Amino acid sequence: MHPSGRLYPCGQTMNDPDLALGSLAAPDWRKNGLLGREALTGPHCAGCPLAGRCPGECPSRLRYNGPQGRALACAMLRALAQPLAAHGENAHASA
Ligand code: SF4
Repeated sequence: MHPSGRLYPCGQTMNDPDLALGSLAAPDWRKNGLLGREALTGPHCAGCPLAGRCPGECPSRLRYNGPQGRALACAMLRALAQPLAAHGENAHASA
């Protein structure tokens, strides 16, 4: 909630009119869930050791950091997954 009483899905979205959820006095939930539609996917997903269990990225960062932010998040996750693949661990196995 913004100090003015306006509502947003998270602190990073404050003052984004596309995601505003009305105010504390008059909530408007029609846009609730829009932020959650942001998803980290890319052309490398099918062959990635994290396919099917990728933690993705913060929806707000995906929304505001643009294509470079998406590429960076994906590259970091794939780098973290490399030791799993290198050691033959099944990244798809349940914990
Ligand atoms: S790390 Fe990147 S390539 Fe791998 S599953 Fe996640 S989004 Fe796809």
